[in-house]
Amino acid sequence: MEKVAVIGSGTMGNGIAHIFAQYGHQVSLIDISKEALQKALVTIEKNLARQVEKGSITAETKTRAVDNITTQTDMPSGVAGASLIVEAATENVDLKLKIFQQLDACADPESILASNTSSISITKIASVTKRPEKVIGMHFMNPVPLMKLVEVIRGYSTSDTVTKTVMEISQRLEKIPVAVNDYPGFVANRILMPMINEAICALHEGVAGVAEIDTVMKLGMAHPMGPLQLADFIGLDICLSILNVLYEGFGNPKYAPSPLLVNMVQAGHNGMKSGVGFYQYTKGSKELVISPRFSA
Ligand code: NAD
Repeated sequence: MEKVAVIGSGTMGNGIAHIFAQYGHQVSLIDISKEALQKALVTIEKNLARQVEKGSITAETKTRAVDNITTQTDMPSGVAGASLIVEAATENVDLKLKIFQQLDACADPESILASNTSSISITKIASVTKRPEKVIGMHFMNPVPLMKLVEVIRGYSTSDTVTKTVMEISQRLEKIPVAVNDYPGFVANRILMPMINEAICALHEGVAGVAEIDTVMKLGMAHPMGPLQLADFIGLDICLSILNVLYEGFGNPKYAPSPLLVNMVQAGHNGMKSGVGFYQYTKGSKELVISPRFSA
């Protein structure tokens, strides 16, 4: 099986490495942080063990998947020989441009360079490389091992051959790829984020409380999670940065982030990962408790 390199071993990077390794690829997982790599390996083992317990994979598949992953802090040696490189580093434009410049210089000339970005323009990322036809968006959903969708984003210059290859690779991972064009927010976040923002505006205006808003959307629209809980899960800082991309990209005030969302991010109330957002989170507890800020 072809070698794949994954840049960034955080929430998404470890899931992406997991799924490629599970389906037989040699995976080189690269991060600037040794601790992040260590943590990623622990998470991957734990998640694979859960799949074995549930009977969705065998113990042999787990062992093979773990053996398929190597970790690196050095990018050039990590990406050598990889036919596909999936970048899942921190969502920051300048960082991604720098990484793609480096990748273009050190990856094999034929390698496809994919980004898992939630919102940064693939065309812009491609523009700093000498191979824009081989740069593409491969937007996995969180948690990667469970979520079926891969939003495949064609940059302005991405070739049809590269798009077809990435669609086929995604299918071999038993994902369902959907090809979309490169405009702000692509499809997933262009539709999701305004809904989340509207839910926050409704809360801010006192139309209803956290529990009421989430219950209406769960029971009324058959959403597995209400929009406020989902915002906490994604991270309120991420939601804010995607809304800003939509707002600036379209120049349309309908995407302006709710001032409540801006305040919460400024206060460090970033949702699940920070321990508090619309709900508050206690390690080890699955109970959904509304943040004291929003409880009556
Ligand atoms: P994260 O903060 O959990 O992980 C980012 C990792 O990148 C960190 O381990 C960090 O050390 C590493 N990193 C930073 N600079 C690096 C560099 N120069 N080289 C190598 N590694 C570097 O972030 P995340 O939530 O996994 O998000 C990663 C990407 O996936 C972002 O583009 C984000 O928009 C996208 N995404 C996130 C989600 C989500 O729900 N979290 C969903 C879809 C897409």
